[in-house]
Amino acid sequence: AAMYQAKLEGRGRIRHFQPSMRERLTRRARLGVDLQGAIRSHQLHLNYHPILSLDSGHLEGAESLVRWNHPVLGGISPAEFIPIAEESDTIFDLGAWVLEESLRQMSHWIQACKDLAPDVISVNVSRKQFSDPQMIENFARIIRESNVPPARIQLEITEDVGDIDLDLVVTRMHQLKQLGVKIAIDDFGTGTSTFAAIKSFPIDTVKLDISLVSQIVSSIDRAAIVHSLAILVRNLNVKMVAEGVETAQQIPVLQELGCHSAQGFYFSKPLDAKDFETQMGLFGTHGFTVEGFESFP
Ligand code: C2E
Ligand code: MG
Ligand code: MG
Ligand code: MG
Repeated sequence: AAMYQAKLEGRGRIRHFQPSMRERLTRRARLGVDLQGAIRSHQLHLNYHPILSLDSGHLEGAESLVRWNHPVLGGISPAEFIPIAEESDTIFDLGAWVLEESLRQMSHWIQACKDLAPDVISVNVSRKQFSDPQMIENFARIIRESNVPPARIQLEITEDVGDIDLDLVVTRMHQLKQLGVKIAIDDFGTGTSTFAAIKSFPIDTVKLDISLVSQIVSSIDRAAIVHSLAILVRNLNVKMVAEGVETAQQIPVLQELGCHSAQGFYFSKPLDAKDFETQMGLFGTHGFTVEGFESFP
């Protein structure tokens, strides 16, 4: 459509438009090729984002977030390279690496940090991984070999299952549940799949997307939509976590909505493993300015 528009606007525009289009495609193709070697050559690492109880400040979880430091192009966002990985089977290897590395880190924290360690490690899983016939077998092996209790592992799956068959997604979710792990629906409120679909998912947690959370204090209309979604989620008897909490004002509104856990830049940026470990035990003890939070030790 952009190309068509450019044509309508005359020849000069076309010449102007093409290089950037070509550049984008070239970058995409290059990243796709480079990503295959990135895992082997240690260009990937994980950051961890704390998930906190809004009631107690307790560190309920850590979400692992993959980072790619490209030797020539520098830091590349997962928002850019995950979709590229999903276009090929690279996502299978990448997903396995992310799970393995997350569990290796969690296992270390459980041993070294004891009670200070997060209750749960939360790992993003691409819906494309569901189409891997080896997925369950591989996950079972990685989990078993990690020595992390499966009850302390959560897998995050986006609400919108896209072009993956819904029956397959539900089957895989049940297979994962049988491994003893928790399942979270990520980016809830952004998908095209209806709320009806998630009712058939065996889930433990729903993560309200930042696009909902960011608007609860700024727009009365949005707040009303989030409110009705929250009531539906509450009736499913699952845990509700708010993503992308950036201001103190959002906290009492979220609590009112029945959302008792949150993550976001207000509490912390995603941290590398070392910084996360240093901060452990401090999360939730500072920066909380709403009523009820002063009572934290
Ligand atoms: P997500 O799973 O919904 O992760 C949350 C994203 O929101 C992260 O961005 C995080 O840094 C950001 N975020 C958290 N709190 C705030 C906040 O208060 N304000 C704002 N503006 N942003 C906040 P990130 O790390 O760039 O990840 C983007 C997406 O890439 C993730 O969204 C997830 O869908 C995907 N992703 C990241 N790591 C992995 C992975 O290991 N595997 C897969 N399959 N996908 C991943
Ligand atoms: Mg996530
Ligand atoms: Mg999310
Ligand atoms: Mg999100």
